[in-house]
Amino acid sequence: MMKYIAAYDTERPEGLPAVRRLVEIHKALQVPATFFVVGRVAEQYGPQLRKLWEGELFDIQSHTYDHTHVESHPPDEVIANLELNQRVLRRELGIVPVGLRCPGGLAGGLRDYPHALQAVAAVGFEFVSAQARGPGGSIPAPLQDPYWYDDYGYADLLEMPGHGWHDNILTAQTPGGLPEGMTPPRTPGQAAAYWKRDLDRALELGLRYFNPIMHPWSVGGFDSRCRHVEMVLEYVLEQGLTATTFAAEASRLRHEKTSQPSRDGAVS
Ligand SMILES: [Zn+2]
Repeated sequence: MMKYIAAYDTERPEGLPAVRRLVEIHKALQVPATFFVVGRVAEQYGPQLRKLWEGELFDIQSHTYDHTHVESHPPDEVIANLELNQRVLRRELGIVPVGLRCPGGLAGGLRDYPHALQAVAAVGFEFVSAQARGPGGSIPAPLQDPYWYDDYGYADLLEMPGHGWHDNILTAQTPGGLPEGMTPPRTPGQAAAYWKRDLDRALELGLRYFNPIMHPWSVGGFDSRCRHVEMVLEYVLEQGLTATTFAAEASRLRHEKTSQPSRDGAVS
């Protein structure tokens, strides 16, 4: 049965009130969540964030030190940036990330960016969530299952795509991303309906998990009570879906891969 993964790209200081509200909602509903964190935000709000994210419900991972687009820089610069963020998140939040969400999101993940793939693997990440757009950089992002970068030379690196609408684009807070002629939703119920539809489609497809792409700054910018996100989580629970985190799902997928015999049964 498909699982639900709530995740929030925590990249702007003005998103802090929404992080607070989202944590309240997740605690009240007992639904886990992953926060992908930019080091600069952790440096600014380390003690508050550390306290908010205490406990088993929250999974904290990397979103680069300063929201660098990993595909646009030479590997040594990207490695330095990602390693800096590992140190910053360890110091400020007391965690060492095992996964990275790539700022911006790419169609096809890192498959077209061997240098970025090399850099991400060099830092030792277990998973990367780079695939979050459709052809030509379009959204909504396609509903696709996770995969390994075996064929690209990194058999141990797992791609965990994000799916569907990006909240900042859907609500037109990042201008220019909506399909032509589309009117952004105006009420929490209207916004939640887009993700519910994506979730229904993902369920029909039998996806391994469904992860809509959300950002505290734009979730809070649309509705400071984050009611639209709460409505999606309530829908997840109504459907009887299990919610998990990126780290937990990555670890399960790795276990599955290593415990399966090779496809042709041969030992090479
Ligand atoms: Zn981002």
